[in-house]
Amino acid sequence: MGTKDLKFNSKTIHGGQYPDKAYGAVMPPIYQTSTYAQTTPGGHKGFVYSRSANPTRSALENALASIENGQYGLAFASGLAAIDAVIKLLNPGDEVVCTNDLYGGSYRLFKRIFSKYGIVFHFVDMQVPGNLEHYINKRTKLIWVETPTNPMMKIIDIKAVAAIAKKYQMLFVVDNTFATPYLQQPLDLGADIVMHSATKYLGGHSDVVAGGLIVKGKALADRLYFIQNASGAVCGPMDSFLVLRGIKTLHVRMQRHCENASYVANYLNKHPKIQHVYWPGFKDHQNHDIAKEQMKEFGGMISFIPKGSNIDETIRIVEKLKLFTLAESLGGVESLVGHPASMSHAGIPKEEREKVGVLDELIRLSVGIEDKDDLLADLEQALM
Ligand SMILES: *Cc1c(COP(=O)(O)O)cnc(C)c1O
Repeated sequence: MGTKDLKFNSKTIHGGQYPDKAYGAVMPPIYQTSTYAQTTPGGHKGFVYSRSANPTRSALENALASIENGQYGLAFASGLAAIDAVIKLLNPGDEVVCTNDLYGGSYRLFKRIFSKYGIVFHFVDMQVPGNLEHYINKRTKLIWVETPTNPMMKIIDIKAVAAIAKKYQMLFVVDNTFATPYLQQPLDLGADIVMHSATKYLGGHSDVVAGGLIVKGKALADRLYFIQNASGAVCGPMDSFLVLRGIKTLHVRMQRHCENASYVANYLNKHPKIQHVYWPGFKDHQNHDIAKEQMKEFGGMISFIPKGSNIDETIRIVEKLKLFTLAESLGGVESLVGHPASMSHAGIPKEEREKVGVLDELIRLSVGIEDKDDLLADLEQALM
């Protein structure tokens, strides 16, 4: 049976994988080589030069395609390198409509790099998908969606946005970093491209920076492969191996991330020193219904604002947490705490940030897979 027919929890382990052809190694070897011997000019075994293709990277690319229900995967040196490749599909004068509550690095790449080359970006609240139609004109070529959004945990209706993208014949990209294919599979909901910062949940162990793109059609895959090879920001063999190893436990880790995050969110929600908790699992979250429909569970990310909206209190809490390490990034087995205004979202001007709710007082948690009682105890002592 082909690995296409497997259930998700088997695809993470077997999807697109086969024992190594040389010695039958079950895990793909780390082919730490830049080039490959040819018997005669052009006489090679499918690999010529490692920017163009490398067997370890190919194994990862096959795994990425499998877990997202795509046909083609491309692995990059970072999530931003993957985003960079997508925007290079466009030409000067083309326009993009993106969610307004966006990863800070994506915003910076769009506004500070690609705007210089004449590509125009509109940042729009897509909680009501119809809103984005006001920004569409004949130059609009691409819609970029993050859901859940980072760090405000808004949920965007992927199917509804896909219908609009189809109506106007635009490419539709979903950054699936926060949800992972364990929770939602955007290609099945109508997206054309899924993008990942594999640095986060796919890698899952905070030991690698990598990115990925997954698509269904060959024509689009070929265009992206051309850009990947021409621009060269490929995922190295060692990094490919690490992400591949991470993916094998994605389903088990995600289950525990979601379970622990649910405990933490409910604990914070009842805490007298907390003003507001942003987590799509709450019945009164403004997008709870669509979250329930398009996601399997509600993910491992939570944001909150301490009572009194006081920046000193925010700093005090993030410094006092011990098990939650104060650090950039998310999605690793260990719990992290972040201060978006000065860390992940520092690249966005304060007025822009605050328009979407990223206040200086906001704290973001990446809930890890430690024992939940230890996590609650750490929050308890920090909030005291
Ligand atoms: C981290 C992140 C990125 C960027 O990925 P890198 O691997 O850091 O380049 C893009 N989108 C989201 C949602 C992220 O969290």
